[in-house]
Amino acid sequence: MPNRVLIITSDAGDAESLKNVLGQADDSAFNIEWVTCLSDGLERLRADDIDAILVDLFLPDSQGIATFDQLFAVVPHTPILTLHATDNEMLAKEAVQRGAQGHLSKAHIGNNLIPGSLSNIIQRKAVEESLFIERTRAEITLNSISDAVISTDMAGNVDYLNIAAEGMTGWLKDEARGYPIREVMRIIDGKTCNPVSNPVELVLRLDKPMTLAADTILIRRDGNEVAIEDSAAPIHDSNGRISGAVIVFHDVTPARAMVAKMAYLAQHDSLTNLPNRVLLNDRITQAIELAKRRGTYLALLFLDLDNFKHINDSLGHATGDQLLQSIAQDLSTCVRSSDTVSRLGGDEFVILLTQDKHAQDAALTADKILTVLAKPHAIAEHVLHITTSIGISVYPADGEDPETLIKNADIAMYHAKERGRNNYQFFKNDMNIRAFERLAIETHIRYALMRQEFVLYYQPKVKLDSGKITGAEALLRWQHPEWGLVLPDRFVQIAEDCGLIVPIGRWALREACAQAKRWEEAGLKLGTIAVNISALEFRFKDFVAGVDLILSETGLDPCHLQLEITESVLMRDVESSNMILQQLKDMGIQLAVDDFGTGYSSLSYLHQFPIDILKIDQSFVQDISYDNGIIASAIIAMGASLKQLVIAEGVEKQDQLAFLKTQHCEEGQGYFFSRPIIAEQFAQLLATGRCDKQEEQGSNDE
Ligand code: C2E
Ligand code: MG
Ligand code: MG
Repeated sequence: MPNRVLIITSDAGDAESLKNVLGQADDSAFNIEWVTCLSDGLERLRADDIDAILVDLFLPDSQGIATFDQLFAVVPHTPILTLHATDNEMLAKEAVQRGAQGHLSKAHIGNNLIPGSLSNIIQRKAVEESLFIERTRAEITLNSISDAVISTDMAGNVDYLNIAAEGMTGWLKDEARGYPIREVMRIIDGKTCNPVSNPVELVLRLDKPMTLAADTILIRRDGNEVAIEDSAAPIHDSNGRISGAVIVFHDVTPARAMVAKMAYLAQHDSLTNLPNRVLLNDRITQAIELAKRRGTYLALLFLDLDNFKHINDSLGHATGDQLLQSIAQDLSTCVRSSDTVSRLGGDEFVILLTQDKHAQDAALTADKILTVLAKPHAIAEHVLHITTSIGISVYPADGEDPETLIKNADIAMYHAKERGRNNYQFFKNDMNIRAFERLAIETHIRYALMRQEFVLYYQPKVKLDSGKITGAEALLRWQHPEWGLVLPDRFVQIAEDCGLIVPIGRWALREACAQAKRWEEAGLKLGTIAVNISALEFRFKDFVAGVDLILSETGLDPCHLQLEITESVLMRDVESSNMILQQLKDMGIQLAVDDFGTGYSSLSYLHQFPIDILKIDQSFVQDISYDNGIIASAIIAMGASLKQLVIAEGVEKQDQLAFLKTQHCEEGQGYFFSRPIIAEQFAQLLATGRCDKQEEQGSNDE
C-alpha cells in the first residue's frame, strides 16, 4: 500500500517540486495529495487517514507555529514535517520540540534523499504506535486485574505498581518508583510475626520463579495487615538475561475466612451452634488422652428430651427448633467452659465433662440440668414444659473410646426413660444385655402382629364381699416361637416407642370385644371387659372412631366395655384428655383410671374427668400388710366421695382382702382370686360365676 502524503502549501512551485521528487521513488511508494490552506488540510485529515504531512507553516489562513499546533492537535500520531525557508530554521526546530518529526528546508526540496527519509519516518512512527498500543493494552490489563503486580529492576528497586498493588500496599506508583521492594511490600510470617525476606530478592539472586510461604502477612503502609498469597518470577530481556523481577499477589483474607467458616460449619450444628458429633468425637479423644496421662475421670451425659415429638407435632417445627435453641443455651449454663455441650441431632444432646475428680460428680451436673430444664421455656406465645432423660457413662470404666462411651451413655439414657423419664442413670454393665434384648424385641415385634403371635389372657374382677365375678381385664401376652410367653412389661413400652402399640392395641381391643361377645352369645354373663389403653393410642387421632368401629363390628354393647388409662396419661394434656374421655363416655363406655396413686395427678382435674372407676395400684394393696393400709383406705374413701367405683389391684393375700373389705372397697383383682388365664379357662370360671376359691387357678404364665 502506498504511503499517503498530504502536502499543505500555498506555494505551487514547492508543491510541484515535492510531487516530483517523491514521484521519483518506487512507482507506487507515495500517494500524494495537495491542499493550499490549513482549513482544507484539517478537513482532509478529518476525512481519512494520512501517513505523513508536509506543511509550510506560513499559509493564507494560518501563520507560524500555530499552524503546526493546530495540525498536531488533530493528528498527534501522524508524522508531520515542516517546510521552512532557510532563514526560518528556528521556527522549524520549535515545531520539532512540540512533536514534529522533522523539517525540510525549501532549499533542499529537490534532494532525492527525501523519499527515503520520509519512508523511514513513517515506518518508525508506525512501530512507535504499535509499541504504544501494546504498552497501553498491558497497562490497562494490569490495572483491571484484582491481583497486585509489582515489578523491580535488577537491584530490587520498584519500577512499576498496578492499581491493585497501590491499593494493597498503600504506595502510589510514582511514590514507590525507585524504592526497594522490601520497603514497599513489607511482609511478615503470620505465625511468628517475624519479617520475612521478599521473594523478589530470591528470584533476582536465583533467576527462577518463587512462591511465598503460606500464611504470609503484608503490612500496609498504614500498618494494617492483609493475608496474602503470591508468586514471583524473573523478567528476562531479549538476550535472555535477567533484567528484573515481577511479583503478583492477592488478598486471601476472604478466602481464609471462608475456609475457617467451612471448618466451623463442618463441626457445628447449624441450629444451636453447638459442636456436632464430629467435633464431640475430637474433644472426647483429646480428653481421653489427657485423662490417661493425669489419671482423671471423664463423664459423658447423653440427654434425650422427653416427649419432644409431641411438641414438634402439635406446635410445629419452628417452635420445636426454638425450644431446642433455648435448651442449648440452658445446657451451656450448667457446665464449665472447659466442658463440651454438643447436639447430635434431633432432641439428643451429649455433654462431655472433663474436670471431674470423682466419677460421681457427673451426678451433680445431671441434677442441675434436670432442674434447669424443668423450668418453663417461653417460646413465642407458648410456655413450654419439658423434661429430659439422662444417661451417664464414665471413662475409663464404661469405655475407652468415644464410640463406646457415647453408646453406653445412650443405653443408660434408655434406662432413664424406662424409669419414668425426667431422671438420670449411670451406665451399668447389665444394661448392655438389656439394650441387646431391647433391640431384639424391637426387631421381632414388627412381625408379631402379622404372625398372629399375640394372645389375650383374662383376669377376673371380683366383688369382694360375695366373690361374684363382675368382669375381666384383658391382658396382652406375646407368644414368641423361641422366647415363649413374653409379658407386657418387656415389650409394651418398646412397642409404644416405635409406634407399633397403635395397631397392637387395636388388635387387643377388637379381640377382647369379640371374646366378650362370644361369651355373651354362649350364655355366659361376663359383666364388663376391661382393656388397657396406652398413651400413644389414647392420643392417636382416630382413637375414638376406632373404638366405635370395633364396637359396631363385634356387636358388643358399649356398656360392657371398660377402658383403662393411667393417670399420668390423662394428666399430660388435661384439656384434650377431657374431650376424648367425654366422647367415649357419650358412647356409653366405662372409664377407669389405672394404677391410681402412682402418677402425679391433680385431684381437681380428676374430679372433672368423667371417670367411673379408680383402680388402686397393686403396690398400695401390697403395702397393706406393712402400713396398715393408709394409702389404700384414703383412695377408697376418695373414690366413695367422688362416687367412683374402686377396684383394688394385685390382691394376693387373705389379710389384704380382709382389710379391703373393712374399708368397703367394692371390687378387687389379683392372684388371690385368679391369675390371668386363657379364654377357655376363663369361660369355665365364668360358668360358675364366682371366684371365691383361695387356691390359685391353673394358669402357668407367671
Ligand atoms: P395393669 O393394667 O395394671 O395390669 C395389671 C397387672 O398386674 C398385670 O400384669 C397382671 O398380670 C398383674 N397382676 C394381677 N394380679 C396380680 C397380683 O395379685 N400380684 C401381682 N404381682 N401382679 C398381679 P401384666 O399382665 O404383666 O401387665 C402389665 C401391664 O401391661 C398392665 O398393667 C398394663 O399396663 C399393660 N398391658 C397389659 N395388656 C395391655 C394391652 O393390651 N394394651 C396395653 N396398652 N397395655 C397392656
Ligand atoms: Mg390395667
Ligand atoms: Mg394397673
